[in-house]
Amino acid sequence: MKRRKFIQNTAAGAVGATFAMTAMACTDENKKTRKPSQDKKPMSKKMPNLPIAICTWQFTNANKTAGDALENGKPALEAAIEGVSIEEQNLKNTTVGKGGIPDRQGNVTLDACVMATNGDCGAVMAVSSTSHVAALARKVMEDTPHVILVGEGAEEFAALSGFETEDLLTEESKKAWQEWLKSPEYKPLINIENHDTIGMLTMDKKGDIAGACTSSGLSYKMKGRVGDSPIIGSGLFLDNEIGGAVATGMGEEVVKTVGSFLIVELMRNGMSPQDACEEAIKRIVNKNDTYKDFQIAYIAMNKMGETGAYCIHEGFTMMKYENKINENVFVDFYHKPS
Ligand code: ASP
Repeated sequence: MKRRKFIQNTAAGAVGATFAMTAMACTDENKKTRKPSQDKKPMSKKMPNLPIAICTWQFTNANKTAGDALENGKPALEAAIEGVSIEEQNLKNTTVGKGGIPDRQGNVTLDACVMATNGDCGAVMAVSSTSHVAALARKVMEDTPHVILVGEGAEEFAALSGFETEDLLTEESKKAWQEWLKSPEYKPLINIENHDTIGMLTMDKKGDIAGACTSSGLSYKMKGRVGDSPIIGSGLFLDNEIGGAVATGMGEEVVKTVGSFLIVELMRNGMSPQDACEEAIKRIVNKNDTYKDFQIAYIAMNKMGETGAYCIHEGFTMMKYENKINENVFVDFYHKPS
């Protein structure tokens, strides 16, 4: 797949899509802590239509795979990992898994994290030996006393855990890198650089939430660079009592505001997923004069199955599986040049 242009890539997919957001119901406790400015929408009590899966971008097959797994009774975490692995294995996706664009020295290095219903989490960073990094992150969570393994250590652990060693650099990505080397300027412009990390949140038939986030990071990044995607609280965070959030886009900016954690905490204090995503984006743009130069997008889901999403620039969409329908959902954006 050619490097995608943010502004161009989803305009067509957004046509006719729905964006139905309802307000998050509030507990009495929440009512006490909400600020008046958060009281934008009427309160409602709602039961989720289980199961539900949402993911970043128009990763139709990945989200459908997760939805099907959930329909078949699989738990949230398993479904999320199955879902995102579709993109980890998709050689045409140059931003996730095998086939990802390499760093500036030609190494494809992958980052991923997972978070389970009970609050456990695992992450791997800078892994170049296997494309199954979300599954590997789960192994770190389940089979080690640690939360994060990086580089060589993560690769040794992968081998010990039975992950087959793969060459992640495809001929196509290698050619793109060799072309880039001819004038190797690194300027991660939003509409030129590829930012299509897959972050996914799933709610299973029991109403339990889990999530996974997996990426090859920014194209032609510095060797050793890690973005937000494998960082719990930044690329992904959830609290099974409240909801979850995932991020895609310029990871450095997400890390600075601990974006996904922020969204979950805003929801905890009574905000709808939509308002929480908007607030998290506003925190970034309000402090950053250069926001016009980069994209960030968040998606979120609360315990009632209500979802929200927001981004800086036009062009980002979300997949949503609910009521056995898997659809691409329009996402509103902050920067609307007049
Ligand atoms: N957030 C990722 C990173 O900064 C990039 C992306 O979403 O594509 O590594």
